[in-house]
Amino acid sequence: MKCPLCGKEMETCFLESNSFLYLTRKLHPFMGPVSAPDCDKIAKLNTRADGTGIPVYICQTCRQVTFRY
Ligand SMILES: [Zn+2]
Repeated sequence: MKCPLCGKEMETCFLESNSFLYLTRKLHPFMGPVSAPDCDKIAKLNTRADGTGIPVYICQTCRQVTFRY
């Protein structure tokens, strides 16, 4: 995959967490995303079966991260 900013080939790596990763419309600093209302959540990015992270593409020149959900 090419970087959308500079066009160089991106490197594959992982975005990893000790918990589940969510894509949300806003932050939930006190409750966290697990117990946030469903309308605030766009996607849960990993399941227990997926493990602790998701594959992402990075450009270290632009410090850009891209992933599919
Ligand atoms: Zn780039």
